[in-house]
Formats: sequence, C-alpha cells, structure tokens
Amino acid sequence: MDRAAESPDTFDLTVIGGGLAGSEAAWQAAEAGCRVRLVEMKPRRFSPAHKSPFLGELVCSNSLRSDAPDSAVGLLKEELRRAGSLVMAAADRTRVPAGKALAVDRNRFAAEITAALEAHPRVEIVRDEATALPDTGWVIVATGPLTSDALAAELRARIGTGYLHFYDAIAPIVLGESLDRTVVFAASRYQEGGGDYLNCPMDEAAYRRFVEALLAAEKVPLRDFERAAYFEGCLPIEVMAERGPETLRFGPMKPVGLVDPRTGRTPHAVVQLRREDLEGTLWNMVGFQTKLKWHEQERVFRMIPGLERAEFVRLGSIHRNTFVCAPRVLTPALRLRADPRIFLAGQLSGVEGYVESTAMGLLAGRNAARLARGLPGL
Ligand SMILES: Cc1cc2nc3c(=O)[nH]c(=O)nc-3n(C[C@H](O)[C@H](O)[C@H](O)COP(=O)(O)OP(=O)(O)OC[C@H]3O[C@@H](n4cnc5c(N)ncnc54)[C@H](O)[C@@H]3O)c2cc1C
Repeated sequence: MDRAAESPDTFDLTVIGGGLAGSEAAWQAAEAGCRVRLVEMKPRRFSPAHKSPFLGELVCSNSLRSDAPDSAVGLLKEELRRAGSLVMAAADRTRVPAGKALAVDRNRFAAEITAALEAHPRVEIVRDEATALPDTGWVIVATGPLTSDALAAELRARIGTGYLHFYDAIAPIVLGESLDRTVVFAASRYQEGGGDYLNCPMDEAAYRRFVEALLAAEKVPLRDFERAAYFEGCLPIEVMAERGPETLRFGPMKPVGLVDPRTGRTPHAVVQLRREDLEGTLWNMVGFQTKLKWHEQERVFRMIPGLERAEFVRLGSIHRNTFVCAPRVLTPALRLRADPRIFLAGQLSGVEGYVESTAMGLLAGRNAARLARGLPGL
C-alpha cells in the first residue's frame, strides 16, 4: 500500500501492523468511537518469524508469562484487563493450564482477536504492506521488531540518527545424548551453583584451530539495510574472534574458575553448555550466537572437544529487532517528536515482550482516538 491508496475521508486513524500492539490500538480507538483503518501485510507478505494469517499472532512462545499480581507483568495484565484490553480478554478465554503463567492456545487466541476486529463496525482491515507513512491524518505505527524493510527505511529517514536497530541473537542447542561425556565435565564457575553447566575443555592447539576455522567459515551476509552496529553485549562469536585471537578466551570461552577434574587444571579455553530443560536432554551453547551458515556451524562446532558427534536441534542465528531510542525519538505519549501526528506502539516503541507491546498499543490507541475526536491528548 503506498500513499496514493489513501482515502482519509473515510477513517479517522490508520493503524499500521496488526500484531499485538496494532490490534489492541485499533480496538481501543474503535471502541472510543473512531473509524479505524488497520493495515496488515499478512498473508500477502510474512516476516521471517510470522506464519499465521491471523491478527495478534504470537511469534514464539505461547506464554504471556506470569499472571501473579505480585509480579510486574502480572500487574500489567490486571491493569490491561481493567482497561478493557481486547488482547487480554482473548488470552483469558483461550488460556491453557500453565501454573502461575498465562499461556494460551495460540491459534484460538489469534482467531478471537481477528474475529473481534473483523466484526467491529468501525474497523476496516486492509491486507497489504504499508511501504510509506501516510502524509495526512492520525497514524499509529505498530509494525513490530520485524517491520518490513521499506517502512523501516522510511521511518529511519523520518527520524534520523535517533532511530536504532539492533539484533536478537539465538545460540545453538545440542542434544544431551550426543555429547561425549568422557570429555565434557559438569561444573559451575568458581563452584557456585553446583555442577549446573557442562564444560567442553580446550587445550591451546585446539583453541587456535577452532578460532582459525571460525574466521574462515562462510557467514550469512548482512543485507545493506541491516548494516548497523551489533549490540556490544551480544556479539556474534565470529565478530568477537575478528577482534583478536585472544578475544574469545576472555569472552564466552573464558576458562577462569573452572577446573577439569580429569587433569586437575584449568583448561586453556572452555565452551559452556547450559541446561535447556530440567531433564538435561537439551543444552544451549552459552554465548554462541552466530551468523555462520548452518552447515558451517555443524562443521566448526563439531571441532569442539566433546561435540564431535553433536546433534544440533537448533542452530544459531541473529535476526533484526527494530526499535527506536524512545527517549530521544518519542514524546511521553508515544508521538514522534519529528511528526507528532504519528504514534509508535509495541516493540517498535522500545519495549520488549507480548504484554508490554499490548500495553503500548492500548495507550497509543486511546490517545490517538482522543486527538482524532478533538479532545486534548493524554
Ligand atoms: C523471533 C521473535 C520471538 C519473540 N518471542 C517472544 C516471546 O516468546 N515472548 C515475548 O513476550 N516476546 C517475544 N518477542 C518479542 C515481542 O514482544 C513480540 O515480537 C511482540 O509480538 C511484539 O508485538 P508488536 O505488536 O510490537 O509486533 P508484532 O506482534 O510483530 O506485530 C507486527 C505486525 O506488523 C506487521 N507488519 C510489519 N511490517 C508491516 C508493514 N510494512 N505493513 C503492514 N504490516 C506490517 C507484521 O506482519 C505483524 O503482524 C519475540 C520477538 C521475535 C522477533
């Protein structure tokens, strides 16, 4: 959808993105009396994480985390319920047993949100990608961490240097039964917490070979648009290795505080594995987020002592996570300082998480509706 497709006489507010924040924003504004146009690019176009044509899709876990009112996220849920949240109502109706957490049947949850918005007399849903920001009218942009490239470029041009995008990193997971237990040893650093981690010890020669292989391995190239700084606290291991031969040994492969019981000595370097499940069937390679191609990950990581026959149930990756530097770019009411008729909501506005994104949608939707109806903004 480009600018030419607009017809602002027929609606008061455009919401771009029908995820958690956009669905909530559209609902709140429509309930407040606004005519809302909700623009969602699915199913014409899917981000790398979205799979379902429904609005309000949960991209990963089906848990909205704790429902206990003495936790921050539980309290936020209760506030959302009392404020008439569409997303929370759908979550409560589709919940599945999960202890203190609020987990949902993801398909029924998203289907309920979609049906409610489709049935709303003041909501028009347009299934198309927004490639530009509308030139007129009130707008809420809630296109999430995987905002499509064209719109992300337009946003960046609109707000300039204060606009950031970083990356979320995923480390590989190996199957416990594929580890060589005659090599790996259980221990926690400085013996704190018992033997919670498994450790793959490396001598100096093995470490050097590993770093060389890592540097030479094929990587997934970044697209031009993605060329931005990585988050320093979460660098891909190959980027760390490029900084110097010893960098990994002082980073995720540091051996300090670990003694190999078979030698009685601290290894030259260590790869730590952290439990993914209570049974210890799955182990996460700590700090091993990477942009290596998948077949290269298998080849290079099997050079690690103890992982020679490792079976990987998940390989590492790094994906874009688009959001703005809110204190610089947004007013406290989530309006762009550079163009106050445009609101940002959801993860794009700098929060993280399903419930937090929903809450930002509720705030933006209510506030935009007030302004659209000539009332003072909140
Ligand atoms: C891979 C991944 C896993 C995550 N896992 C979790 C988790 O387990 N738990 C958790 O609490 N949080 C998780 N998050 C973080 C985040 O809270 C969620 O992504 C959350 O869904 C964000 O809500 P949102 O409404 O801002 O964006 P989204 O829910 O992503 O919704 C954005 C919508 O905008 C649409 N869109 C994008 N660009 C355009 C465009 N140009 N035109 C029209 N439509 C467009 C998309 O198709 C999508 O429907 C995860 C994030 C990612 C990327």
